[in-house]
Amino acid sequence: MPIKLLTQHIANQIAAGEVIERPASVVKELLENSIDAAASVIEIVIAQSGLQLIRIIDDGSGIDQRDLPLAIMQHATSKIEQLDDLQHLASLGFRGEALASINSVAEVNIRSKVASADRAWQLSGDNKIVAAAHPNGTTIEVRNLFANVPVRRKFLKSERTEFSHIEDVVKRIALSTHSVAFHLTHNEKTIFRLQPANNEQQCRARLAKLLNKTFADRCIAFDEINQDLRLWGWMLPTELSRAHADQQYFFVNGRMVKDRMLQHAVRMAFSEVYQQARYPAYVMYLECPANAVDVNVHPTKHEVRFIEARLVHDFVQSSLQRLQHEATADEVCGVDKNQLLSHHVVHEPTVAYQVDKLAKTAILRPIAFVEKKYMVVSESESLKIIHYPRALQFLAKRLFATHKVTAQPLLIPETIQCDNQLVEDALAREEEWLGYGIGLQQTGPGVLMVRTLPSCLLGGSFKPLLMTLLQQPAGEVVTCLSEHCVQKDHLSREEMQVIADQLVQHDLRTLMAKKIMLDLTLPQLDQWFQ
Ligand code: ADP
Ligand code: MG
Repeated sequence: MPIKLLTQHIANQIAAGEVIERPASVVKELLENSIDAAASVIEIVIAQSGLQLIRIIDDGSGIDQRDLPLAIMQHATSKIEQLDDLQHLASLGFRGEALASINSVAEVNIRSKVASADRAWQLSGDNKIVAAAHPNGTTIEVRNLFANVPVRRKFLKSERTEFSHIEDVVKRIALSTHSVAFHLTHNEKTIFRLQPANNEQQCRARLAKLLNKTFADRCIAFDEINQDLRLWGWMLPTELSRAHADQQYFFVNGRMVKDRMLQHAVRMAFSEVYQQARYPAYVMYLECPANAVDVNVHPTKHEVRFIEARLVHDFVQSSLQRLQHEATADEVCGVDKNQLLSHHVVHEPTVAYQVDKLAKTAILRPIAFVEKKYMVVSESESLKIIHYPRALQFLAKRLFATHKVTAQPLLIPETIQCDNQLVEDALAREEEWLGYGIGLQQTGPGVLMVRTLPSCLLGGSFKPLLMTLLQQPAGEVVTCLSEHCVQKDHLSREEMQVIADQLVQHDLRTLMAKKIMLDLTLPQLDQWFQ
């Protein structure tokens, strides 16, 4: 085929593939525009999960009549003028491609009025601008999304799933901008209506609607500052950690991000929670100078790059670790946790601390789980093979030894039939078992009920373990417990990550000596392949 220049429309459709994946992506882009336009009330009207209609109404700055046709042109933006502006970006948008992309895969209608104009104007699909009725602000309507790109429609999931993605996007944006009121409707039904939140109480009311009441009632507010960095937000005390990673929100300069480095810092900070197959719950905000972070790394702007990544990593990790300890200490002293934990506490970075942490914060990436036994993990300059059963035992032993396991209630308590003597022997050491997360209770003559177990023992039968435990001298109990950790046949990437992150906190030489981890450095690999 000879080389031809693509028409602008097709070029836009191709570009749209990167940013506009599904209806929720349209909602995200339009909401970001409304927030950039300093709207204080935003209404989101959805029909048929966004495929039929997405209408966003805001009371923001509006678009001038002259600028209307430019708004839907590729690379047309009012937010930056020159490359340098990217370094101090305060707006969510800046690429000037969202509206152009949306316009290439749907019918777009824009009505808008700026406060200084005496009337509103409308731009419709045929690129005509006509007078319209509209208060100050903008309404953007997107109809028949992907009608002209049938392949894209094919990749969409059920209506319910697509709408849940939309709801998730609106939730995240509502959590990122508390001062803005939001009203979301789907097929004419109100999903939620959020009043502007300008103080702690109002923010908690918003958290109750967007996460749940338990989070809003029990979360701890925090606010940490170190030089140019600020980390604030709310988190649940670790004992209320969750079975799923469904209440984890992290924003960087008002932008929702999924950044590997930040995820890693958080995982390390909450490593004890993760180690028990639980997930911390938090809504947090990292603020840093705009020129300290590059947001122009990815078209959807999900990823960011920090100039001083190590510093940010350590600040996030150490702040969160300390906050957890303070929270636990407060609980012991009976302090009300609903109050702010620390107010703009200034923590000086200690160089020694950072150097010490350097080795321990290596970022490992799980690759595969082989033969139910070996985890293959990569690091920047090496490949690591981890013996899963030994790793599990090694980590569990430390948890048991330091009494850091949490008791998990059994959904169906296990009943153990045995003779009276055994019941007596078992209950005589009740306190000791509790320290390991094992909750026992006598429910009848010769009948013991197991109410709680530590998560690493869940899924196995407890009776034989109890018999063995009772024969152990006190000094051997921890070893015996860790040897009985329940191994899984399959490990998800997330599960492998948790184990790898835990191991990396320990000395590599110890891990190698105990044959828990094999470390193949790049030079070693190169040499072998020579
Ligand atoms: P970007 O947000 O990257 O600038 P978009 O394609 O999303 O690019 O929007 C193009 C331009 O249209 C924006 O720069 C802004 O000037 C204008 N615009 C879009 N939506 C709105 C809105 N809701 N209110 C005011 N201006 C808007
Ligand atoms: Mg935009």
